[in-house]
Amino acid sequence: MRKKVIAGNWKMNKVLSEATAFVDDVVGKVPNSDQVEAIVCAPFPYLSSLVEKTNGTKLRVAAQNMHFEENGAFTGEVSPAMLQDLGVTHVVLGHSERREYFAETDETVNKKTHAAFKHDLTPIVCVGETLEQREANQTMDHVATQVKKALEGLSDEQVANTIIAYEPIWAIGTGKTASSEDANEVCAQIRQVIKEVTTEDTAEKVVIQYGGSVKPSNIDELLATSDIDGALVGGASLEAESFLQLVEAGT
Ligand code: PGA
Repeated sequence: MRKKVIAGNWKMNKVLSEATAFVDDVVGKVPNSDQVEAIVCAPFPYLSSLVEKTNGTKLRVAAQNMHFEENGAFTGEVSPAMLQDLGVTHVVLGHSERREYFAETDETVNKKTHAAFKHDLTPIVCVGETLEQREANQTMDHVATQVKKALEGLSDEQVANTIIAYEPIWAIGTGKTASSEDANEVCAQIRQVIKEVTTEDTAEKVVIQYGGSVKPSNIDELLATSDIDGALVGGASLEAESFLQLVEAGT
């Protein structure tokens, strides 16, 4: 049985006092269950304080991005070693907003995935199609390419420990959720693609999240499907109460 992973992606929101108030509120209420993992994906400046606040608790802290190089002349960037050193456990890679506004490619996502494992960080690799691609019936080809490229060169064990977040771009921040059937169909096909490039056993271990306008009112239906193992949540993860409801849904 795969555990459910609920990750709140705050994106570029909250000032420090809001971030710490959220974690203070949530940290003692995360269910003490092995069935569900709760993660907050916070902006870089807060990672250190949030890791300190969540030490020894069930709440994990993720970064929303990182560079793939070890160190060097990359002004404004944050390295995987820095995240590891802070005690961050997960890192979101290749979010569609990074691909669209910051020129992330499948190749850079692949480099970052390798760098994450090198530094004991669990990558949450985002994939997903645009509305045009969906309407042109290109969803599966596009998503399969993104998944294969992101995982290229990883060992089966590393693949098994990768989290994939399937986020149709047209459903992000729009209030339009993919139906649970449509979302599950793509997630099941992603698992099939992983099976083809690794083994059945490996593919069965991979946690595949759905993301795109997930909220307390639709999460149960999504998690009840065969291949959706959690959610990457933007808007609805910003309030402590709604984040906790989403996490509860995973238990
Ligand atoms: P949303 O964002 O839940 O606000 O649609 C999801 C995401 O971008 O990860």
